[in-house]
Amino acid sequence: MLKLENVHAGYGSIDVLRGITLEVAEGEIVTVLGANGAGKSTTLMTICGINHCRQGHIVFAGKAIQNIPAHEIVRHGISQVPEGRRIFPRLTVRENLEMGAFHRHVNGDELEKVFALFPILKERQSQFGGTLSGGEQQMLAISRALMARPKLLLLDEPSLGLAPMIVAQIFDIIREINQQGTTILLVEQNANMALHVAHRGYVLQTGKIVLQDTAKNLMNNDEVKKSYLGG
Ligand code: ATP
Repeated sequence: MLKLENVHAGYGSIDVLRGITLEVAEGEIVTVLGANGAGKSTTLMTICGINHCRQGHIVFAGKAIQNIPAHEIVRHGISQVPEGRRIFPRLTVRENLEMGAFHRHVNGDELEKVFALFPILKERQSQFGGTLSGGEQQMLAISRALMARPKLLLLDEPSLGLAPMIVAQIFDIIREINQQGTTILLVEQNANMALHVAHRGYVLQTGKIVLQDTAKNLMNNDEVKKSYLGG
């Protein structure tokens, strides 16, 4: 469904991604693991057209999409949940959700679908986004992305800054979203949670993929255990 081939991207004179090649098949949850600054967020932002792809190819559903503007990428069926959620604090929950479907008319069914995943958002639909808890804001950010009816969901650090119980809840829902038919590319520093939910994974080190395998094999890999799973 998604293929990156030898992708280079960066900032100023520096290439942060130095030839990334990875693949996500329809129906999969694929995770990209890596330390701070490895280039995980840059990878997602390059796929969704926010960062410039300097070299290489990005192919989605058979079409070359590198350097297509971000709003067009959404129309192609890719939505991103950015690191730090970036919800609109002065819009209500419902207005935030409607922004996710900016490119078409919203119908009640879609709202009901995200409210079924996150019932708390239904209760809070008139509340300003900025007044939600961190976990609720993450739920809102995921729901907003789902409102665009993506085929592929890009998730950037959904566990960031959240209590373990909430993280577990969010990961259960990530699994459910996948089971309902959405393919997922997940970037995470919480390698333990990511490998538990993912089918396959890649390890990114200073802008290069150094390892790829099934999630199960990565969990048992000594190098991954030492560097990303706390020994
Ligand atoms: P983290 O988990 O800490 O977010 P990451 O793997 O997602 O790390 P990126 O955010 O992709 O890493 O950043 C990769 C490198 O690119 C870092 O060295 C970072 O300082 C640099 N970088 C990121 N955004 C910018 C920017 N807007 N301008 C210049 N350099 C940037």
